[in-house]
Amino acid sequence: METNTCSVESSVTIHDKSFRLFLSEDELQQSIARLGQQLTDDYRDRNPIFVVVLNGAFIFAADLLKCVETPCEVTFVKVASYQATQSTGEVEEILGLEEDLHNRHVVIVEDIVDTGLTMSALLDSVREMRPASVEVATLLLKPKALKRPLSIRYVGNEIENRFVVGFGLDYDGLGRNLRHLYQLSTQ
Ligand code: 5GP
Repeated sequence: METNTCSVESSVTIHDKSFRLFLSEDELQQSIARLGQQLTDDYRDRNPIFVVVLNGAFIFAADLLKCVETPCEVTFVKVASYQATQSTGEVEEILGLEEDLHNRHVVIVEDIVDTGLTMSALLDSVREMRPASVEVATLLLKPKALKRPLSIRYVGNEIENRFVVGFGLDYDGLGRNLRHLYQLSTQ
């Protein structure tokens, strides 16, 4: 079998910011394989539907779903944030949630849960459709950044509260194509 010979950069610069290698693709793939195994065991013969949150989760979802060894469906949503009024502040709007999730076993697939506000909004929208169950699978979780309690069953890696880029996650539109995950350098 051919091996992939792409090099591992120990640091990258995007715009004016420097990022250092944080989790290699191999390390990420180990977490993804573990999550895939858990999902396979938990959802066998339940025909789950995976709701993938674009854009950031596209690489994670592609790799995760290849590790799910039971029949399933996949759909995609986008979350747009906007300032509604001064009193309500930032509001999250869910775009593209067109599947009927009533009585379905739903797994939301996200790249990273930071404050948890996006995931809360998404969970509210999905629950309005009265699914049979809903769980979250996230590649990354920043537990110290959470602003409200969220129960997340499938977590790839818990990380510290510092900005990361790569493996689907961007900085100002760039970096999604990086093979590994990089963390903002302190200096
Ligand atoms: P939350 O609503 O949980 O604060 O944030 C969710 C979204 O913010 C994620 O889906 C992601 O798009 C973005 N985000 C949060 N933390 C990071 C990070 O460290 N790096 C990048 N690239 N995006 C992040």
